[in-house]
Amino acid sequence: MITMKKELRVLVVEDSEDDAELVRNELADGGFAVAHKRVETAASLKATLEHESWDMVICDHNLPALDSLAALAIVREVTVAVPFIIVSGLIPDEVAIEAMRRGARDFIRKDNLSKLVPIVERELQEAAVRADLKVAQDSLHNVSHFDSLTGLPNREHLFKHLKSKMACTGNDLSFAVFLIDLNRFRQVTKSLGMWAGNKVLVETAERLRVVFGENDFIARLGADTFVAVVPNLDQDARAEEIAKAIHNCMDEVFQIDEHDLFVKASVGVSFYPKDGQEWDDLFKNAESALHNAKAAGGRSYQAYRPEMDAYGKERLVMESALHHALAQEEFVLHYQPQFNLFDGQIIGAEALLRWHQPGSALIPPGKFVPILEETGLIVPVGEWVLRAACKQNKQWQDDGLPPICVAVNLSVIQFRQPGLAQIIKKILKETGLSPEYLELEITENIAMHSEEATIATLDELRAIGIQISIDDFGTGYSSLSYLKRFPIDRLKIDQSFVRDHQDGTNDDGIVMAIIGMGHGLKLKVIAEGVETKAQVDFLKLKGCDEVQGYLYGKPMEACNLALLMTETTRSNKEICEVMA
Ligand code: C2E
Ligand code: MG
Ligand code: MG
Repeated sequence: MITMKKELRVLVVEDSEDDAELVRNELADGGFAVAHKRVETAASLKATLEHESWDMVICDHNLPALDSLAALAIVREVTVAVPFIIVSGLIPDEVAIEAMRRGARDFIRKDNLSKLVPIVERELQEAAVRADLKVAQDSLHNVSHFDSLTGLPNREHLFKHLKSKMACTGNDLSFAVFLIDLNRFRQVTKSLGMWAGNKVLVETAERLRVVFGENDFIARLGADTFVAVVPNLDQDARAEEIAKAIHNCMDEVFQIDEHDLFVKASVGVSFYPKDGQEWDDLFKNAESALHNAKAAGGRSYQAYRPEMDAYGKERLVMESALHHALAQEEFVLHYQPQFNLFDGQIIGAEALLRWHQPGSALIPPGKFVPILEETGLIVPVGEWVLRAACKQNKQWQDDGLPPICVAVNLSVIQFRQPGLAQIIKKILKETGLSPEYLELEITENIAMHSEEATIATLDELRAIGIQISIDDFGTGYSSLSYLKRFPIDRLKIDQSFVRDHQDGTNDDGIVMAIIGMGHGLKLKVIAEGVETKAQVDFLKLKGCDEVQGYLYGKPMEACNLALLMTETTRSNKEICEVMA
């Protein structure tokens, strides 16, 4: 039977060739296939360790140019893992004990070489155990220090880094903490799923790695928030340049499957030591700056200023008050009339939510709808809006006013809500409103979801008999191809295009293109934000069907809209009588 010999690479530190040969023979007799090399000076020992790998170092105690303790120091400088065994003719006990204390694994007298093989076998086993342990420790370190999705350092690692940086940073040193948060990331995961969200995060991490340098520390804090610590940075101007680079790197489209996603980021920054001597203050202040940047919207950047602290408090207070606002009946709807551009008839009204917190003025939706969306409260509040608007519209009809359509804004989260069609059917039944008098306004971002699922929901809603319009058209995820496939009734041209109307500007071109496209698809086109006679004339000339805006009427209480409807009907009747 042939037994395979175990390979053993031994580095022998020995001045006598004969003694080295004895060691080699002993190991070969013990069943090892020995590959060995002999060295006898510090320089050759070091060079050999650096260029080749060894399973074992066997060292004489007393060489002319080196002793075992000095050899051990050189070995440990290069590697901690290789077992070091002293094989010597004469070695004083205290030196042997000192060598063991410094990391030698054993010592054997040259006249007792029979001990060598069992010791080498034991050492090889223990080295293997130590190697396994090291792998386990490394992976534990990775799990506890790195984010498994992006491979970036995680929150704990970041805080350790910040703490140690602050512990050793002298007064004259500085650094900046950048907090980077993706805008509307929840919508990506809600619309396209976790998998798509994860792809965006991984790619964001890669892009950030390119923006920041080797000496910067980038981490993922959790969810869609990243952090970068940039040393030697204490000026707002340079931080702003870095923020611009972050925005630029996010400008490129994220291609997730067949979807082209545009993901923007908000950036907040605080500086050490100016904005906090302790890491938690510094971090809290970067968060304040980030919240302010987020409130500004878009691809924004803010450096911390002490007056920002109020924002965080205000937002917390608002969030907790919003949890009770529905039960305490603090929401009200205002209605803004919509007109047919050619005969001046009121054809509809958009229901716009306001929050009447006791003791304060009416709060506009831009201030609290994003919080309702982030907290999920938009679902019950949105249902309340639908019910209240349908009830009011039925009331106007019961009061003998000419029937109009009430338009209700629906956030993407509501649109994705399972059973939405059932809820609407129930509300129409409860309030007695006929479905053709309800319109839902949705934004282009619903198209971020799979087209099939979006079309299925739209079909379900249209089957009820209600109307659907695309709000703020032209500003969102504008894939014109989806328009053809979506069962919708109306496009609302975003007010930014209407507001900027000046003859011959680009926005005029956009307005004209939207009207042309809408009509090509047999959709009605309504312009919102109409404030001037010049805008009306232009819209009329280009064939826009309907208008909504301050020129015709601001959002108003239901009773005032009833008055306006009565007046408009009367004056139209008078015009008709005069013309008859
Ligand atoms: P929107 O749906 O695009 O509503 C039109 C906004 O433009 C309203 O602001 C309206 O007051 C304003 N507006 C109308 N005409 C003019 C004009 O001629 N000039 C100017 N400068 N502004 C005009 P509001 O009421 O502050 O609503 C803002 C946004 O809040 C709405 O934009 C809508 O996205 C959201 N919102 C309002 N109510 C609800 C709701 O019940 N549910 C949801 N999900 N969102 C809502
Ligand atoms: Mg709207
Ligand atoms: Mg709008």
